[in-house]
Amino acid sequence: MRAMVLEAPREPLQPRELPIPRPAVGQVLVQVSACGVCRTDLHVLDGELPDPKLPLVPGHQIVGRVVERGQQAGRFEVGQRVGIAWLAWADGSCRYCREGHENLCEQARFTGYQVDGGYAEFAVADERFCYPIPEGYPDAQAAPLLCAGLIGYRCLRMAGDAQLLGLYGFGASAHIVAQVARHQGRRIFAFVRSGDEEGARFARQMGAEWAGDSLRPGPEPLDAAIIFAPVGELVPAALRAVRPAGTVVLGGIHMSDIPGFPYHLLWGERVVRSVANLTRRDGQEFLELAPRVPVRTEVETHSLVEAAAALERLRRGQVRGAAVLVP
Ligand SMILES: [Zn+2]
Ligand SMILES: [Zn+2]
Repeated sequence: MRAMVLEAPREPLQPRELPIPRPAVGQVLVQVSACGVCRTDLHVLDGELPDPKLPLVPGHQIVGRVVERGQQAGRFEVGQRVGIAWLAWADGSCRYCREGHENLCEQARFTGYQVDGGYAEFAVADERFCYPIPEGYPDAQAAPLLCAGLIGYRCLRMAGDAQLLGLYGFGASAHIVAQVARHQGRRIFAFVRSGDEEGARFARQMGAEWAGDSLRPGPEPLDAAIIFAPVGELVPAALRAVRPAGTVVLGGIHMSDIPGFPYHLLWGERVVRSVANLTRRDGQEFLELAPRVPVRTEVETHSLVEAAAALERLRRGQVRGAAVLVP
């Protein structure tokens, strides 16, 4: 099969011919029809996440069809469309798994990081960590639901019942979260890079009632903020923008250092919290909710060999919505 392979962090992805992987016990072999490109892929490629499997096939927003089932795999039929997301495996037995926090499992493995992912024509996955994909979504439009959507949804849950929600960094996650939040009757302010007129326009189109500079507070105090951009200086900026008892949720797996800030920004029982990975429950809930909103994803598609170009567009903030690879 054709695959894009990372041989060492900070080196360019290489097109390679690899053997088609064999499904082990409990696994399915999936023919990949689309794989979303995520900022986490950039963090893996840039060496910002420690100890990736090497060589590695990145990609953790995989939509495809089951073409073969390993022994004892019977959850999906051959031919059925499934999704594979970031959480590839959890042990089910550690204290975090037992508490319902499998996202924090001490033995967890992640797709496109510790196991091969979807920048390829085929991928294998533990069937218990796959998701049926709702009807009505073409493959490429479904792919961003699997990380941008799931992580965004988990962040939105952590924002509690906030009525006025600020979204910092209006990329793949925010454009999905905005639609869900509007569906729930919440109001959205979008905070974008200073001078990013096109980003502000896109945010308004997706339901934000106001869009402006991310380093300044908005026209009204926020009940909660979600930061999707991996930029530490947005944390004090968002604390400035939320009201007392408001929450600032950090949705990225990696962020540049958070600069020091005066205590009064946190004072007033404001909360800063991170969101780490996702659980299968997030996936089931969100994939049931998405068609009822209905969430519509904006995607640009690229071929497998264009992966590096798609990642560069993402790095520069040039992608409107989500970038998706179509092998
Ligand atoms: Zn565990
Ligand atoms: Zn992701």
